[in-house]
Amino acid sequence: MGRVYNFNPGPSALPLPVLETVQRELLDYKGNGISVMEMSHRSPQFEEINREAESLVLENAGLAAADYRVLFLQGGASLQFSMIPMNFLSPQAVADYVVTGSFAEKAYKEAKKLGNVHVAATTKESNYSTIPRQEELQFSEKPAYVHITSNNTIYGIQWHYIPDCGDTPLVVDMSSDILSRELDMSRFSLIYAGAQKNMGPSGVTVVIIRKSMLEQASDATPSSMLSYKIHAENDSLYNTPCTFGIYIIRLIMQWVKDMGGIKVLGGVNKEKADLIYDAIDASSGFYRGHAAKEARSGMNITFRLPDAELEKKFAAEAAKAEMIGLKGHRSVGGIRASIYNAMPLEGCRALASFMHEFARRNG
Ligand SMILES: *Cc1c(COP(=O)(O)O)cnc(C)c1O
Repeated sequence: MGRVYNFNPGPSALPLPVLETVQRELLDYKGNGISVMEMSHRSPQFEEINREAESLVLENAGLAAADYRVLFLQGGASLQFSMIPMNFLSPQAVADYVVTGSFAEKAYKEAKKLGNVHVAATTKESNYSTIPRQEELQFSEKPAYVHITSNNTIYGIQWHYIPDCGDTPLVVDMSSDILSRELDMSRFSLIYAGAQKNMGPSGVTVVIIRKSMLEQASDATPSSMLSYKIHAENDSLYNTPCTFGIYIIRLIMQWVKDMGGIKVLGGVNKEKADLIYDAIDASSGFYRGHAAKEARSGMNITFRLPDAELEKKFAAEAAKAEMIGLKGHRSVGGIRASIYNAMPLEGCRALASFMHEFARRNG
């Protein structure tokens, strides 16, 4: 049927059953005679989609609707880099950032434009191949919040513990590993993610925010569009949101639930990643993983081959074998396999066996 295994880092693979539902409902959404794209965001039909999307996100995240709100915003995860300090970093305060990759660096830089920031730790000197240990985190006296990036999409490293920062609100950019593994999400006060990796199409950003944190948000942001409070008061409908994106998130959240939730998906994701890391480790140095073993990402697997020519050949032959999107990020090079929730186990089996075979032929 012409579908290939899609290892793109984002926008990325979507679950096939979801795409099939979208196709079925595209011309006539549930007997309304129109597509969701053509529907008013103020219609009861869309309001229902919006409400269900919010409650399914919370359910899958294991969070109580009494404690958290979900917002569907625009501007990408990148606008969150600015909205967070605009809403939570007052002029007298300091915000702490843990810098574990290029997106974490960007988050830090945007906050620095707006207020006082402190780097609690960075792993730049290891070329972002490691995650700092708890005892390496040096928080400032009384930070307004601590910001981390749970998964480094570009270099392929991931936090495997949630840092303890006492009573300080913990803010996390979870763009590339949200809902991919079991995690106590209630340890976070604000979770955000561009949807285009693990939750939906591009054009919508998911923000999960603790209600008590929301109450602390600034009432003086330079624009209403930058105010969490205004978006929350209006159930993400202050202006026209990315309605089609929210509809797809709603379908994907139902799919996650039907798959058995993140407990089951997390187990499958572990199996998927192990297949590829095993192929790296069994290659007698033909493949060299970028991440330190204890920091390996379960979502973005990065590795090098002996030279750039072989890397090109690897990506080209993989594409011929119907595995696409494997070229590494321009800033790192090499190969990157992004294996988000929608990548089936068979896709990772196919890639692992291709890796074994390619190493035999070219090693
Ligand atoms: C992709 C990504 C971003 C950027 O997201 P946009 O929606 O393009 O702004 C930020 N942080 C992380 C961790 C990402 O993976």
